[in-house]
Amino acid sequence: MKTKAYQLVEWQKPPELREVEVREPGPGEVLLKVGGAGACHSDLTLMGIPPGFMPYTLPFTLGHEAAGWVEALGPGVTGFERGQPVLVYGCWGCGRCKPCRMGSENHCERVPELRYHGGGLGRDGSLAHYVLVPSSRLLVPMGSLDPRDWAPLADAALAPYHALKRALPLLVPGSTAVVIGVGGVGQMAVQLLRAVTAARIIAVDMSLEKLARAKELGADETVRSDEHAVGHIRELTRGLGAEVVMDVVGVDSTLKLAAGVARQSGQIQLLGIGGGVLPFHFFGVPLECQVVAPYWGTLPELMEVLALAQAGRLRMTVEHFSLEQLPEAFQRMRGGTLKGRAVITPHG
Ligand SMILES: [Zn+2]
Ligand SMILES: [Zn+2]
Repeated sequence: MKTKAYQLVEWQKPPELREVEVREPGPGEVLLKVGGAGACHSDLTLMGIPPGFMPYTLPFTLGHEAAGWVEALGPGVTGFERGQPVLVYGCWGCGRCKPCRMGSENHCERVPELRYHGGGLGRDGSLAHYVLVPSSRLLVPMGSLDPRDWAPLADAALAPYHALKRALPLLVPGSTAVVIGVGGVGQMAVQLLRAVTAARIIAVDMSLEKLARAKELGADETVRSDEHAVGHIRELTRGLGAEVVMDVVGVDSTLKLAAGVARQSGQIQLLGIGGGVLPFHFFGVPLECQVVAPYWGTLPELMEVLALAQAGRLRMTVEHFSLEQLPEAFQRMRGGTLKGRAVITPHG
């Protein structure tokens, strides 16, 4: 079957909508009809990377955040039915190393030889009508949730949830968590913190509209990101700073803000791939503060995020685009005018 897919054909060039051949699923594989495929800031980052930096072979179809309906099962696959809605776990590891067997395919040891991280990251992804998933172990049944609205669980929710989980011992009652940047991922971070912890949540952004939205979604305090932000947040935390600071933007100024408002023995989490630099020296971050760059999430964590959504604990704001409108979605993302996550719905 011939169909269309958005492929990265050359590094540092915009992706191209190309005609591709969809093959039948081989042993163990599952073919999915794409319901929703998120367009992500990291796609923009990926496109801008110079040749030779990533281990990927071009061309490949972009799209690493997906949900859809089972279209066809390869030989040997059982337990799924045609038409069943499923969420795709986006980290496609070897499935055999220790981290993979623990469900942490985001930490697969064989990435250097595999030369990919997942669909849309070195292998054909979901910005297409169909996506071929290499194994049914990477699929999680969604029940009554619509793939067109809930695809962002696979990345925009999973990534901040993974970050939150690794800082959970710090997020006790009485603690404070700061989320810098409350666009699609940041809004999800606020809701996840609200659902899972009793920490006080401070949302930081330049946009008053986004701050208002963060408040609706569970932020206790909102702080405009300007020259007074550090002082304001320190004031809110009795001068001590926050136990956990999630920087969902990751540019120089937000990292500086993060270091300015983190508490001693706290944790700065860099989630945004904005390319910023945080100088690390003895007085560069608060004493004994950890600086971590969490990567995506585990399969069990994806199931936990899905469970929160199924329990009605998360609200997902999405804007739908056709496959042909992908360049417009990226343009809106660059301009910061999206009201939520941009989700491509190739089948309408
Ligand atoms: Zn992403
Ligand atoms: Zn592995």
